[in-house]
Amino acid sequence: MKWERFKRQGERLRVTETSCCGEYEWACQGGLFLVLRHGERGYEEAGRGTYRQARGVWDDLVLAHRHRNAQVAPAIKRRGSRGGSRSLPQISHPKEERTS
Ligand SMILES: [Zn+2]
Repeated sequence: MKWERFKRQGERLRVTETSCCGEYEWACQGGLFLVLRHGERGYEEAGRGTYRQARGVWDDLVLAHRHRNAQVAPAIKRRGSRGGSRSLPQISHPKEERTS
């Protein structure tokens, strides 16, 4: 699986589906479909293409998915705890633009 850094620019992104555990997100942008995941450095995308192409990638990922019990949903994480020296950039979540 080839993941590329997702650049949040250009056409409006619409996230319409979230996989189990919120690991992957199914999105549509500019008439193409893609799969998003939240990587260490921000959002990454894979499978950008037609519905059929992207859906094949999505299905593979969802099938290979392993539950991450240790991971807590981002909404539950506490903000503002600046204990260590690491400072991860705040990533605005594509879900903001969710349309239903
Ligand atoms: Zn899961």
